[in-house]
Parts: sequence; structure tokens; C-alpha cells
Amino acid sequence: MSIERILQKRSESKCELCTSNENLSVYEVPKSPKDGEEGSIYICNICTEQLEDTSKVDANHWRCINDSMWSTVPAVQVTAWRMLTRLRAEGWPQDLLDMLYLEEETLEWAKATGEGEDETDKIIHRDVNGVILNTGDSVVLIKDLKVKGSSLVAKQGTAVRRISLDRENAEFIEGKVGPTQIVIITKYVKKI
Ligand SMILES: [Zn+2]
Repeated sequence: MSIERILQKRSESKCELCTSNENLSVYEVPKSPKDGEEGSIYICNICTEQLEDTSKVDANHWRCINDSMWSTVPAVQVTAWRMLTRLRAEGWPQDLLDMLYLEEETLEWAKATGEGEDETDKIIHRDVNGVILNTGDSVVLIKDLKVKGSSLVAKQGTAVRRISLDRENAEFIEGKVGPTQIVIITKYVKKI
């Protein structure tokens, strides 16, 4: 049986990403460790075009991943992971990524194209001394900070535990002072 026939059967002749049943063809998922049907997906021409040409990506089209990311086919999971990673600045793709669990081997394949790496390299959060901050770190405030939109003043010396990073801006982190989640400028904190 040809790969195309096998994939038609696996996909029930629907795009494995967006379920369209028009203009379907075999798409070889880049960097697949396996040949044949395991390294390929059966998808429509709209999905193919946007996978191959990043300038044509329409984020809304990819809301279909909400369903297709639950596929049991690793090649589909890998493609979903890559597209979500590419689109994660939109917000909702990051939420889906947080839910998408891939087997170790599959995740390695997904990361093989370097998708997402540039972005993480670009945005690095550093404290007042230039020490790199990571999600989950604890910091201490090095000056009194007025909390925007409230009468709260976060005092110098206050520890903020389990910070999170602003994914789009290296200047900002978030963390809790007492019960209040606040945005803090990285130059006013020191990692502890
Ligand atoms: Zn499609």
C-alpha cells in the first residue's frame, strides 16, 4: 500500500490538522527520525502553504490545533507543537502548549527544527546585577515600589517568591507581594 493510501486511511481522508476534506496531500514533517507514514501527515493545501511559508500564516486558521493536538499520531503532535510555538506570542497558543504533553522522543523531534529557540534567546530577564532570572526564582526588591493602581507600597527588602517572566518584554517580571500579584521592573530586583 502506498504512503498516500495508508495516510488516507489513518486520517479518514480529512486534513489531520484542520479536518478539511479538500486538496489533501502527503506532507513530510521535517527532521523526522522515521521514514514513511510515521514521518508524514496528510493535510490540506491551506495547512501546507502556511507550514511552508511563514509569511502566509493566519493565526486564526490554527485554532484547529485545539482539537488536532490531541491526535495520537506523533507526526501530527510535532506539527501542532511547532505551529503553536511559532504563534505563541498570540497568547492562546501558549495556553495550548502548556497543555500539550509530548513523549520525550517526540519532543526532541519537535525541537529539531529550532522552532522557538530564537525567541527565547532574544528575551532574557536580568536582575540589577545582570544575573539571569528564570521562572520560579525568588527575588528581593532593592527599593520601595509603589504598586500601580493601588495604595500599596512594596517595601525595599520584600522577598517575591516564584516569579514569572513577561514573555514579550525583558524589563518585566511578575510576582506576589502579600496576596497581590504585581508587575515589577527587573532593574529593581535582586535574585536571592
Ligand atoms: Zn488543513
